[in-house]
Amino acid sequence: MTPSRAMMLTEYGRPLVVRNRTIPVPQHGEIRLRVSACGVCRTDLHVVDGELTKAPLPLIPGHEIVGYVDALGPDVNDFSLGQRVGVPWLGYTCGKCAYCGSGLENLCDHPLFTGYTRDGGYATHVVADAHYVFTLPEAKADAALAPLLCAGLIGWRSLRMAQDAKRLGLFGFGAAAHIVTQVALWEHRRVFAFTRTGDGESQSFALRLGAEWAGSSDEAPPEPLDAAIIFAPVGALVPQALKVVRKGGRVVCAGIHMSDIPSFPYKLLWEERQVVSVANLTRADGDSFFRILPQIGIETQISTYPLTEANQALADLRSGRIVGAAVLTM
Ligand SMILES: [Zn+2]
Ligand SMILES: [Zn+2]
Repeated sequence: MTPSRAMMLTEYGRPLVVRNRTIPVPQHGEIRLRVSACGVCRTDLHVVDGELTKAPLPLIPGHEIVGYVDALGPDVNDFSLGQRVGVPWLGYTCGKCAYCGSGLENLCDHPLFTGYTRDGGYATHVVADAHYVFTLPEAKADAALAPLLCAGLIGWRSLRMAQDAKRLGLFGFGAAAHIVTQVALWEHRRVFAFTRTGDGESQSFALRLGAEWAGSSDEAPPEPLDAAIIFAPVGALVPQALKVVRKGGRVVCAGIHMSDIPSFPYKLLWEERQVVSVANLTRADGDSFFRILPQIGIETQISTYPLTEANQALADLRSGRIVGAAVLTM
């Protein structure tokens, strides 16, 4: 058997370790990919750091996977060997609960998540449930596509949650915001970028991508906003964002984990402002996003790392040293 290599989380809060293992075999309804690239998402940091603790250890993180089908499980007919596909965070849903039955499979009562409750893509090979795998548009390099599998998809769902907001604030200008900016501009929205205080590099990055204003998260934008999306895992941004949205405006929390939201005066919420969260994705989100993607022509800015330098990629993401998205290449 060809050996397979993976970066594994064996203990929360500890660096990932390199492991050789037997190549996994796809079971009924599954396919195996030879992984080409896997994005490094902030959620991976929350998993590795033990802020999300449902993961059975040892675990292989990674849920922004681009790879090539190299084995088909029994009864899989929709994919062919050698085909390029993407594996996202949503790895399985039950299909039976009330949420699955009402178009909200992102809220399924019995889901599995790639790189969290099933093994992910920080590896040379990954096995995925074929029903949750996306075919990808052509004409983009594997590594450039990887961040679209989560930063892109969650960004897309968050943007839909921002409804028809013309003036859109983005708090935290990393992998997701740099993609959402491009989608929002394509939809003729106006983008206002908020970063950590003094993060001039991210602010000029946002302006280069077409944001019309960039500043620190405690600064007031030149005019009130219709909606804001918070990508940074910082609860203190919720009242900050409420301060800058207009009456009836929406604040969308897009992360899976956030530090506690400090108490704030009711008048920030008053006048029908709303705070909502975005959880996971549905396959319909992916289908609509990847269908429209070739028209938008998103350019992802990536920093690539070899698989065995996953710990360095995570450290760089943690310290805010990455402009755009980090991607592991195999
Ligand atoms: Zn379900
Ligand atoms: Zn993610």
